[in-house]
Amino acid sequence: MTKYIFVTGGVTSSLGKGIISASLAKLLQARGYRVTIQKFDPYINIDPGTLNPYEHGECYVTEDGAETDLDLGHYERFLNAPTTQANNITTGRIYQNVINKERQGDYLGKTVQVVPHITDEIKRNMRILGDSGNYDIVITELGGTVGDIESLPFIEAVRQFKWEEGSSNAIVIHLTLIPFLAAAGELKTKPTQHSVKALLEYGIQPDILVCRTEHHISADIRKKIALFCNVNVNAVIESIDASSIYSVPLLMMKEQLDKTVLSKLKLPAKNEPDMESWKDFLGRLKNPTADVRIGLVGKYVELPDAYKSISEAFIHAGAKNECKVRVEYIPSESIYPDNVAEKLGHLQGVLVAPGFGSRGIEGKIEAIKFVRQNEIPFFGICLGMQCAVIEFGRNVLGLKNANTSEIDENSAHQVINMMEEQKNITSKGGTMRLGAYPCDIKKGTKAYAAYGKQHISERHRHRYEFNSEYLKQYEDAGMIASGINPDSNLVEIIELKNHPFFVGGQFHPELKSTVANPHPLFVKFVAAAMEYAKKKIK
Ligand code: GLN
Repeated sequence: MTKYIFVTGGVTSSLGKGIISASLAKLLQARGYRVTIQKFDPYINIDPGTLNPYEHGECYVTEDGAETDLDLGHYERFLNAPTTQANNITTGRIYQNVINKERQGDYLGKTVQVVPHITDEIKRNMRILGDSGNYDIVITELGGTVGDIESLPFIEAVRQFKWEEGSSNAIVIHLTLIPFLAAAGELKTKPTQHSVKALLEYGIQPDILVCRTEHHISADIRKKIALFCNVNVNAVIESIDASSIYSVPLLMMKEQLDKTVLSKLKLPAKNEPDMESWKDFLGRLKNPTADVRIGLVGKYVELPDAYKSISEAFIHAGAKNECKVRVEYIPSESIYPDNVAEKLGHLQGVLVAPGFGSRGIEGKIEAIKFVRQNEIPFFGICLGMQCAVIEFGRNVLGLKNANTSEIDENSAHQVINMMEEQKNITSKGGTMRLGAYPCDIKKGTKAYAAYGKQHISERHRHRYEFNSEYLKQYEDAGMIASGINPDSNLVEIIELKNHPFFVGGQFHPELKSTVANPHPLFVKFVAAAMEYAKKKIK
């Protein structure tokens, strides 16, 4: 029988519910439990696929092609296990399902209401993963802050769920903030008391409080919180600011969050969590023997969350290479022919980021020309790979005004063009080429050296592709297709023969990088940057 853990948030947003959920899941997994995490988002979009990255950070894509919240990336990076469409549900999807059922006549003439129809649909989605039989424990993170109008139906659904399942089968962990008032020199518990009170108003007594704080919480304060919030003292968990999100599982282990959870769920604690390989990773992360500076050229750099999976993939690849990777975010719009050397000259590697639309694209192309000519390691992802193809077309093959048809439909040389299957699609949201596709790697290439095998699978999110009519011309001049989709023949990886490291992928390798499995292309890219740094010193 599956047990359920709900994670709610109080006082403010951005307390790190996603990281706490992932850390707890990691500890339970390390004790031998089969765990997954899902997230409910209270907004009305069906999924974040249509959101501008400035609104909500990166859109994460699962194996099965769901466009999801970036927290799912944390879940996968911590657990090293894939998530699915069922792991991210929005208010929009809940209402869409209910309205579709209403149109099909499923409610038999009844008035369709928030309670019970919306809350029933929410509960059904809370049970889907558990009902699959694949998990002992499902952790459900509720987006938003308790008290928000938008999240009320979810809170009510949790109340009903807890009542239906019984207190040892479904528990609630409430994440709150213990602010430090510098002028008074004190940690304050009142906001926490109020946010628990808000939960109680909705009929939910939290079982465990995870208290985010900048300073250690004394035994006295723990006692006070326990007394006023009606929980055991050992259910008051300190979550102190950490230098790395990857330290949080160990901090939670020290606070015995996993033990307290298991005792509330009446599950055996079995063995202690086996966190040896995690500690090994942390050791490498915290004791680098080298240092590289890599530029991330993109159009959403003001908001680093827009590139969350990329920056995490650099952390994994850095640890693997025992190298500190300093990522420098560079707005592509700021790069011109006359300043490119000044902007990029000091870097040991440049990654050109994914993206949509024309803003900043010429700066990306300029950056690629510079790193190609100066033999600085280059890694292009999706639009970044497409820009590398455009740059090579314009400056090496002499294809005047070569472009992608996404930006210039009138270009005489559309070296990147829309995929056939995309041409008749007009609606947005869930309609791109999404999710995992197979790719065959050519032997003797840099891609093969990274993956070490021929058949791979990577995740995609795009509408445009390399225009294969130009392939021969490109390969003859030294830009080869080292990865090809075996079913559709689409070019998935390009690389330069005569360059220390110049690789572009039409897919998003960052989505598959985890602590346990750093992505091979990122690992090789960082290694190439280290190599470049050494050569430069010589
Ligand atoms: N805009 C490009 C396309 O749709 C690239 C997408 C991306 O970078 N994710 O093909």
